[in-house]
Amino acid sequence: METRWLFADQLGPHFLDDPGQPVLLIESKAVFRRRAFHRQKAHLVLTALRHRARAGDVRLVRAETYAEAVKEPVSVCHPTSRAARGLVRRLPGVEMLPPRGFVTAPQDFTAWAEGRDHLRLEDFYRHARTVHDVLMDGGEPAGGRWNLDTDNREPPPRGVTRLDVPPPPAVVEDDIDHEVRAELDRWQSDDGIAFVGNDGPRLFPATRQEALTRLRHFVEHRLPMFGPYEDAMLAGDPWMAHSMLSPAINLGLLDPVEVIEAAERAYRSGAAPLAGVEGFIRQILGWRDFIWHLYWYFEPRYRSANELRARKDLPRWFAELNADAVEARCLSDVLAGVRDRGWVHHIPRLMVLGNYAMQRGWRPAAVSDWFHRCFVDGYEWVMTANVVGMSQYADGGRMSSKPYAAGGAYVNRMSDYCGGCRYDPKVRAGDDACPYTAGYWSFLARHERELAGNHRMAQPLRGLHRLTDLDALLEQERLRGSRAP
Ligand code: FAD
Repeated sequence: METRWLFADQLGPHFLDDPGQPVLLIESKAVFRRRAFHRQKAHLVLTALRHRARAGDVRLVRAETYAEAVKEPVSVCHPTSRAARGLVRRLPGVEMLPPRGFVTAPQDFTAWAEGRDHLRLEDFYRHARTVHDVLMDGGEPAGGRWNLDTDNREPPPRGVTRLDVPPPPAVVEDDIDHEVRAELDRWQSDDGIAFVGNDGPRLFPATRQEALTRLRHFVEHRLPMFGPYEDAMLAGDPWMAHSMLSPAINLGLLDPVEVIEAAERAYRSGAAPLAGVEGFIRQILGWRDFIWHLYWYFEPRYRSANELRARKDLPRWFAELNADAVEARCLSDVLAGVRDRGWVHHIPRLMVLGNYAMQRGWRPAAVSDWFHRCFVDGYEWVMTANVVGMSQYADGGRMSSKPYAAGGAYVNRMSDYCGGCRYDPKVRAGDDACPYTAGYWSFLARHERELAGNHRMAQPLRGLHRLTDLDALLEQERLRGSRAP
């Protein structure tokens, strides 16, 4: 049987044709010279690769470049970035197979997308559920409704600092973890390789076994609470009832199909309510596959789309994850989460980090690069539509119907941050003005022309015209410049 070359994000059994198939793994240091990744991300990826090298008939080659390591004929599953696909195509003796690690096939997506004016998650998700018979009763959605978002997305429960769900089982570091940590120290001190973020105990699975343990624990203990608080934030509970499975799925340690099947089984057996299970499956079968396909479906220059002409560089305090420089409680806490864990859940990414960047007019490509480097689950394919499209609206609405811009009122409703903050979410101008509230109105004022034709923005734009203190607010925002709020 031919050798299967596995990229570092193709580590699970579903990337092989047979469990005994010989495997080639390549560890390249060059990747880490090119960009300053989060230290915990570098640790996770290298640890996972080296654990995989101990399982089965595997040859791990350490090389500066991939090209020098591939000496024999091999097959490889379609890689997850354009650069890697280009490399695979250029290397002699390498057979490229269709992609694995996603639920839907590229040709299915293309057939669905062709001829549509707008590509919307909801339409794709319903299509994918039907084709793959997920959460379906015959031809109808289980429970009679496709979308149970109205049952989910509640504010956090009042008077609690954390959700009443058991934490995921800790991963226990071993000799490989220690060896990688010591090596990264040497890379930093001897080779001048730079990282961002703090090192810390490994928080995410690096082996198939650890990933399966996390999956089972999530489905049994946390999935029942996933739905209602999916969009809520608590300062004392970074994980809420989220699965924290994205690093494991993106490393290829888990097949999204098995994750979806486990969640559906929990619903069918009565162990988890439909709303939460639907919400969770929507994330994986819907969002994850949708984002993956958009990476390939949109033209390569989509990555540098900048419809709102946002030209500012990231300020240093943000780029370097200096949470202590920030007084706004939500942003400080979320930035500290990125610094200390390389992971925060979806709403802090979208509504705290992304929203702040969009309001301030930071370059979408720089924001995208920052997310890619700073998050343990960040890969190029997942950046493009999530960051450029969804969070920065830099594509002018090709994948979302309106910008995810929001003021402090949103953060106040969906979190417990504002109570202890020195800013007031209701105040637009003056010393106590919430930077999100001020930033929201200034964003609308700046982009009124581009947003005027969007009926979902009609009401906010009417609100903008009613403001009597807009000039003072804009002047204050101008004076704030790129200072940490
Ligand atoms: P859960 O809330 O438990 O969701 C379950 C799974 O659904 C996730 O594990 C993930 O595999 C999938 N998923 C959900 N939403 C998305 C999405 N929009 N795109 C892709 N997969 C999704 N996800 C990444 O995997 N890597 C990233 O680098 C990444 N960057 C993001 C940047 C921004 C600005 C935004 C708005 C979203 C980003 N996401 C990214 C999507 C999402 O925030 C994370 O997948 C999720 O927070 C991971 O935590 P979890 O595993 O607990 O997710």
